Amino acid sequence: MVNIRKVVSLGYLFSNGGVLMCRCDACGHTETLPARPLLRRYGAGCPVTRLERWLACSRCGGKGGTVKAVWPPDPDSGKRLVD
Ligand SMILES: [Zn+2]
Repeated sequence: MVNIRKVVSLGYLFSNGGVLMCRCDACGHTETLPARPLLRRYGAGCPVTRLERWLACSRCGGKGGTVKAVWPPDPDSGKRLVD
């Protein structure tokens, strides 16, 4: 798994088949964030790391967490969003 911490936008991530994992700093709960609501709310140009300050854990209610872009193993054969 590739962990990229450089700044990636939501649009770039999702159009390349990536997903967004978030992890709660308080309880360690991890969850995959859905693409469409994020794109609609924050826009394709929003850096994924900017979402960290807006996270609220669905398990413990804690604010803040870590967002990680997760890419498909092989970009050439990976899933792509078709709209
Ligand atoms: Zn939590």
